[in-house]
Amino acid sequence: MYTMTINGKAVSTDDTFEVSNPATGELVGRAPNATEEHLNEAVAAADAAYKKLSKLPDEELQKLCEAMAKKVDDNAEELAELLTREQGKPLNGLGSRWELGAAGIWAGHTSTLSLPMKTIQKNNEGTVELHRKPLGVIGSITPWNFPILIAIWHIIPAIRTGNTVVIKPSPYTPLTTLKLVSLLNEVLPEGAVNCITGDDKNVNLGAKMTAHKDIRKIVFTGSTDTGKKVMVNSADTMKRLTLEMGGNDAGIVLPDVNAKEIAEGLFWGGFVNNGQTCAAIKRLYVHEDVYEDVCEELVNFTKTMVVGNGLDEDSILGPMQNQMQFDKVCRLVADAKTKGRVLLGGEPGEGLFYPPTIIADMEDTDPLVYEEQFGPALPIIKYNNIDDVIEKANDSQWGLGGSVWSRDIEKAREIAMQMETGSVWVNKHLALQPDAPFGGVKCSGQGTEFAQEGLEEYTDIQVISY
Ligand code: NAD
Repeated sequence: MYTMTINGKAVSTDDTFEVSNPATGELVGRAPNATEEHLNEAVAAADAAYKKLSKLPDEELQKLCEAMAKKVDDNAEELAELLTREQGKPLNGLGSRWELGAAGIWAGHTSTLSLPMKTIQKNNEGTVELHRKPLGVIGSITPWNFPILIAIWHIIPAIRTGNTVVIKPSPYTPLTTLKLVSLLNEVLPEGAVNCITGDDKNVNLGAKMTAHKDIRKIVFTGSTDTGKKVMVNSADTMKRLTLEMGGNDAGIVLPDVNAKEIAEGLFWGGFVNNGQTCAAIKRLYVHEDVYEDVCEELVNFTKTMVVGNGLDEDSILGPMQNQMQFDKVCRLVADAKTKGRVLLGGEPGEGLFYPPTIIADMEDTDPLVYEEQFGPALPIIKYNNIDDVIEKANDSQWGLGGSVWSRDIEKAREIAMQMETGSVWVNKHLALQPDAPFGGVKCSGQGTEFAQEGLEEYTDIQVISY
């Protein structure tokens, strides 16, 4: 049975909702359908815990984070299997085991960070100190694509800085978060991290959290449309916000590449987690000199990837996660087929399986290029002028990530600097690391996660002058 965790206790509800395996449609488990009262209890527990946790010495907070990192590592295989069953991603490839491995690494690294007091001035005229103070109760709202990793990205820096947490996962993937939080509570003081779940039907817990008077900050990862609602709903209580939202990352391939050498990197850039990744390559611009070669090598590499039930050890890609996203990809590909050249895939498979699809000769005016497809369908666009292509890449409401592919690193770097995105990678894509800040510009979000800069977002500044 999957239970919520409120004030360190397992909490179940009479009303529950089904979570099914996207590969088979079979029931994985039932998740509690929380009421607004459960949310209020969770916030009250987190608030009471905050009063104690925020006074702990820094070394104690660090130890709690290290203990959480160990819990993740010690339970990685069990969590990975559950993640595959509810999310669909395979155990192997860049799938569940990879996600659990990354969660352990992020938790471990974030444990080592700290925000010591800074002395701004110390002279005959006086002393000025800058302190970083915890905020209080953090409301964490997560999406369905990387439920464990994103939960860790939210929880660990919050606790590291002396805050407490109420986390609410997506209704599509609540079970791994319920299990994770229950495990973390084995090493945490009661009320430090609470988890509530709901199906978003009668009560929208996320919306209630963003308006809640006793939550001091929302850290939200999800779609741009929902992120905008979070911003509006948070205004009354002047919450601190970190918003990690959608993207439409461009990959730009320069004419000097060796197509065979970059094919694997391009594949993972576009198809990681079946393309259901905020910062995946969602449109690929290839110079006309290498266009046919790059198309051919990318297709050849992609053909070698095994698509199947994620629990099969051979699978590299699984099904799509849910019907809503599947239908979106079907719609965008059906439209793209009338405009471009299908090099691979292009027809839905059984159930929620959609084969990796590559469509060449697309234009920026095609919905598959300018919308966020969030699925295994990559459009390729030919270009011949680098300035034009940079302009096209930047002509988007989003600005999450981007990549430049070239043997000339200095040239690639110059282009990278002109891209209006929070991250740009050269000869790789989505190369996130826990010591480099990550965040979006424009409608991809606000604020940053990871590293020192990410940790600071869980604090307010207090200046003391004497
Ligand atoms: P979503 O916006 O539909 O849902 C995200 C979360 O918000 C869920 O937990 C949902 O229950 C909750 N929610 C729903 N209505 C709400 C409201 N009114 N107020 C507050 N919360 C509410 O997103 P999704 O479909 O789960 O995830 C896919 C999207 O997430 C994609 O656009 C993707 O690009 C983005 N994403 C971004 C990042 C990043 O780091 N930038 C990472 C992963 C996913």
